Amino acid sequence: MKRVISVVLASSLLLCACSDKDGKERNYLGGTGEMFHTEGAASKGVVYDDENIYFNYTEVYRLDKDGELMINCDIATCKHDNEECKAASREGEYFVFGGKLYQCYRETDLDEGEIVGYGYIKDCDTGKVVFDNPVPEDLEESKKLDSSTEIYSISVINDDYMKVEGHRHAYILDKDFNIVCWYGDVGKFQWGNLYENKYYYINDLYQIAYIDVKSGEKGVLEWENKVLFAGADKDNLFYADEYNDFYKYSLKDDSSTKIGENIWFFSVYDGYIYCDQIIDEQKEKIILDYEGNIKYTYTANKYMGTDNLVKVGDKLYNMFLEEGKKGVAMMNIDGTGYKEVYIQ
Ligand SMILES: [Zn+2]
Repeated sequence: MKRVISVVLASSLLLCACSDKDGKERNYLGGTGEMFHTEGAASKGVVYDDENIYFNYTEVYRLDKDGELMINCDIATCKHDNEECKAASREGEYFVFGGKLYQCYRETDLDEGEIVGYGYIKDCDTGKVVFDNPVPEDLEESKKLDSSTEIYSISVINDDYMKVEGHRHAYILDKDFNIVCWYGDVGKFQWGNLYENKYYYINDLYQIAYIDVKSGEKGVLEWENKVLFAGADKDNLFYADEYNDFYKYSLKDDSSTKIGENIWFFSVYDGYIYCDQIIDEQKEKIILDYEGNIKYTYTANKYMGTDNLVKVGDKLYNMFLEEGKKGVAMMNIDGTGYKEVYIQ
């Protein structure tokens, strides 16, 4: 019996060695093929290629085709804090924009005894800093006081535009990292959506505001209630207000319809809305269609989230850190096929 095991081990080691030198061209993160950014507002820090999906916790982990989740570094002695290590997150994240891989950096420095955060974006291939998030010169003086170059979030909007959001200012950038426009009424939620030429976001007064990326024109949608959370797909914008009433707003004809109640956080993907519905402190996880009909529930999928979902292929994923365990939860778009995998 022992011999059989050692033979199996030896041959699998051989296979490993072969696949490492299989002549396949490796991309920057060590997988094969082109790299892509996951769609959606929650796509923060999740990129993928032919072989792996890469998640950013405090380090970068990869979920491979066989469903194994491991740190994206094969050097046993590595502390994952050096420039060469492909698992070092540097408190930032990888993202793909216009077909190229970049990494966002979040760092701190001591300035006259005070800790000051700063941020910048590097092109992974050239190692060059492509954007350093300067404080806008015409930002209101009162906001300038506590603004910094620190990057709070990055969102890839499409192949032509991305958003870099700081504490007091947000930039829309083109694919050469030129500033297209910016706004200073940054709200708590980093969601945004481009429809025709208008980029919609939730501002610091909990309104849906917009900025026209071509003309720079700004405005707000004049609604009675505060907007706490929003999502969008094509010409539909969905939002939960301060009373957790849930609405669908048509960007095409400016009509608003209430389609649900007791909705808190959610994600929108391809005809389905994944929501937290809380009634009498009882939380259900439900999947609505765009008319507000409950199609499925997935409350039993313990570590599956709602607002933090990313979609790759025909599956939804989210990272979780619960009871000291780091993992990735996944399910099919209808809530079936739930699985949890943990870091090896
Ligand atoms: Zn490492």
